[in-house]
Amino acid sequence: MKVDRQVLANVVAAGKHLFYQFENDLFVHVHLGRYGSFRLGPVPSPPARGLVRMRIVNDKATLDLNGPTQCRVIDTVDRDQVLARLGPDPLAGGLAADVWQNVASSKQPIGALLLDQVVIAGIGNIFRAEALFEIGMNPETRGCDLDRKSFDRLWRVLVRMLRTGVKHDQIIAVTAKEAGKPLEKLDKHQRLRIYGKTTCMRCAGPVAVVKMAARKLYVCHHCQA
Ligand SMILES: [Zn+2]
Repeated sequence: MKVDRQVLANVVAAGKHLFYQFENDLFVHVHLGRYGSFRLGPVPSPPARGLVRMRIVNDKATLDLNGPTQCRVIDTVDRDQVLARLGPDPLAGGLAADVWQNVASSKQPIGALLLDQVVIAGIGNIFRAEALFEIGMNPETRGCDLDRKSFDRLWRVLVRMLRTGVKHDQIIAVTAKEAGKPLEKLDKHQRLRIYGKTTCMRCAGPVAVVKMAARKLYVCHHCQA
């Protein structure tokens, strides 16, 4: 392979894309998708488990990648093409003002815009549902019908959730205050407010599952009217 035995020089994340840059100036472009995951193992490296798409080894550990949507060797030109198609990434210095411009000029519903990587990079399906629920926003609201104040609330919630996700390596929507315990002590079912739930934690009404931008969106029609 083109990056076999090359030294890893740098790793950069842009939205949901990861770029593993090697010393020969080639990159491995990774998109984890829904099923991709990394597994840390010892050295000497154990036998591969399942279909390992990329294995990185140093003198301390073995890192295996299984099940990504994308894992390909690319050059700088290809990397720039991927980056050019991505909207602002809140975790990489993307600006609220730029995302606002993308949102406010669109007739698409906000529930679809949040998953559109050209509008804003890095928001996944769980973040979408959780952020809209937290601020009580109807996912059907068209971008052009949003006011700046509501958008700013949405932005703040997204940034908080993304940063919490990086810090804890988990998607966590609730705050420590409402959970009554530190975020690292939360059980799996306590981390989210609406995604995957059947009953609304606020109004005890049913949580609806609608399809928006080809993905399941959990929504409370009462709290997000
Ligand atoms: Zn509700």
